[in-house]
Amino acid sequence: MKKRCVMRRLIASGVAVILAFSITGCSLTAKRLSNALDDGTIYITEDVENVRYQDDFYEYINEELLDEVELGASDAQWSWFGELDAVVAYDMKQMIRELSKSKEEYPKGSSEQKIRDMYECISNMENRNETGLGPLQPYLDMIRGAESIDEYVEALADLSGQFGFSSIVGGYYIDQDKADSSRNAVYLMYADTLIGKEYLENPQLQSYVDVYYEYMVDMLVEFGMSEEEAVKVQGQIDVLLRDICASTLSTEQYYAPSVTYNVFTKEELQELYTNINIDEMLSRLRIDVADTYVVIDVEQAKKINTLLVEENLQVLKDFSTFVMLNDVAEYSTEGYAKLYDNMTNMLYGLSESASDEDTWMYLTQDLLPWDFGKIYVDRYFNQESKQQVEAMIEEIIDAYKEIIAEQDWMSDTTKAKAIKKLETIRVKIGYPDEWPDSMEMMQVTPISEGGSLLSNLLVNMQVSIEDSLDDIGEEANRDEWGMTPQMINAYYNPNNNEIVFPAAILQSPFYDVEADYAQNLGGIGFVIAHEISHAFDSNGAEFDENGNYNIWWTEEDYQRYQEFAQEIVEYYECYKVIGEPVNGTLTLSENIADLGAMACITRILEGDTAALSDAFIQFAYIWASEETVEYQLYLLGYDTHAPNKVRVNAVLSACDAFYEVYDIAETDGMYVPPENRVGIWK
Ligand SMILES: [Zn+2]
Repeated sequence: MKKRCVMRRLIASGVAVILAFSITGCSLTAKRLSNALDDGTIYITEDVENVRYQDDFYEYINEELLDEVELGASDAQWSWFGELDAVVAYDMKQMIRELSKSKEEYPKGSSEQKIRDMYECISNMENRNETGLGPLQPYLDMIRGAESIDEYVEALADLSGQFGFSSIVGGYYIDQDKADSSRNAVYLMYADTLIGKEYLENPQLQSYVDVYYEYMVDMLVEFGMSEEEAVKVQGQIDVLLRDICASTLSTEQYYAPSVTYNVFTKEELQELYTNINIDEMLSRLRIDVADTYVVIDVEQAKKINTLLVEENLQVLKDFSTFVMLNDVAEYSTEGYAKLYDNMTNMLYGLSESASDEDTWMYLTQDLLPWDFGKIYVDRYFNQESKQQVEAMIEEIIDAYKEIIAEQDWMSDTTKAKAIKKLETIRVKIGYPDEWPDSMEMMQVTPISEGGSLLSNLLVNMQVSIEDSLDDIGEEANRDEWGMTPQMINAYYNPNNNEIVFPAAILQSPFYDVEADYAQNLGGIGFVIAHEISHAFDSNGAEFDENGNYNIWWTEEDYQRYQEFAQEIVEYYECYKVIGEPVNGTLTLSENIADLGAMACITRILEGDTAALSDAFIQFAYIWASEETVEYQLYLLGYDTHAPNKVRVNAVLSACDAFYEVYDIAETDGMYVPPENRVGIWK
């Protein structure tokens, strides 16, 4: 068991971690896993010093690192993803500072001009306060002044059609058709349920709901209501929201195409929404040219239809007003922005806000993501790493092919299709060949020419809408990227059967040109194998090699697959963090991807104990993280990934090679009997 490499990597990975966090004091108590209980429940217990790797591998590898991490008062989480994000953000911030000081005349429409002028609009609080809700006021008036449900729905449709604002009905997005990924489809969105079903319906989280409702009251008062009126309105919105949520899909259901892919013709839509004039709404939304529409949450749509009656007009108007205020709060006056900031702090357990400058710089990057992306690639991306990672991807795909060929529970027919899917996976690394149209389309008007943060925000929203409206009826563009190059992340897109690795994730501790091969395999290799494994996760398995929703498994094989999946659900539900069990169903697709990835990595390093050990250590290390309790609760409700500590320990405990490398006894916390070691690929 080598701990040396952990420290070496920590130092090699730069000083950022030490600089970003105070190194005084220890914010953590070592924790330990113990599965000694008869019912098989795996508890994480506090106050165990000198943790053994046999009991808690994650803690053993990361305790020194996490001892140095002390969450700042304005941090909900520390992780390598956040750390590298901060490094990228630091570089981008330096650039914003240089630009905002520079006296140079930049050509209109250049990234430099846009960034400088956007930052000025964001950081000039006087201008933001003077602007108030100005550019938004006519649209708010349309909602507030609606005298009938028809007028109310028309106002919502205009707002959604022009800017993409959506509250209860009329929200939509355009994306590849799940059943025929070569074309685009219109997806009709569900209602904005604000703090959401997972909080509203969990009795233990009502104190957070209370915090949210205080925020709602304050926002409505800021908008001009009396305190008394605002409290009354909040109470009515609560009743409305709980009613909608009772007919709303759970977070895990939203990820299942079998549940969310419901194709409606215009006539069928009219039957679903009997209280709305569908032709009128679709035409105001500018999506009436489509032949069919996908309704994501049918039960919720039925419920909303019943709510669209005259007696609810006032509460609906109040609800949509609040949703809109909430949507723009961060970009609006100091009053709204502060309320929004306080609410997120309370929700995520932060005792302090980020500095004004940090917030402004974050917003600038958020509103001009591709301009920053292009600059990031020009300045920081190393082409050499792209080639090395491409070679690693090939090796990982080959390993999967071998693994699949050996599965004795799968028929030859299913195997052939699975291998075909692997062979046709598209790979995108670094940055898009062509920058998206929205980058050119997005223009920034400086304050000197009458612009403001809110007016530029509306332009930004308009651009996304115009850009996506161009896609209706067009063939899907498979070259588009769903992430910017400066994001520390990666994804698998089932509609394109593709894996995508933005430039910024190709750095230490995920990937290091100087590191041993096995270390990189435990880092970026695991991430790559995880993304590829999504092609066969509980959602991905339902899409074929062309990216179409199509169950290509034989019935018997798919039945077996689902039995394995059920075992995985139950396995993860035995893990608890902060006293709460992991939601095995919500995290199923990610857990399948993790377990598959580890099977693949250990296959590549089979028999080489030292290399396997390096890979296991690096794997545990990249998932090191620290969160506030509030943020952990939030993640347990909404994150499709298991908590990082569980991701590491549950995967290793289910991996046979782990037991070959380390001496794990039956009484140890990491031990899981061979017959209980779950996974799709054995
Ligand atoms: Zn994933």
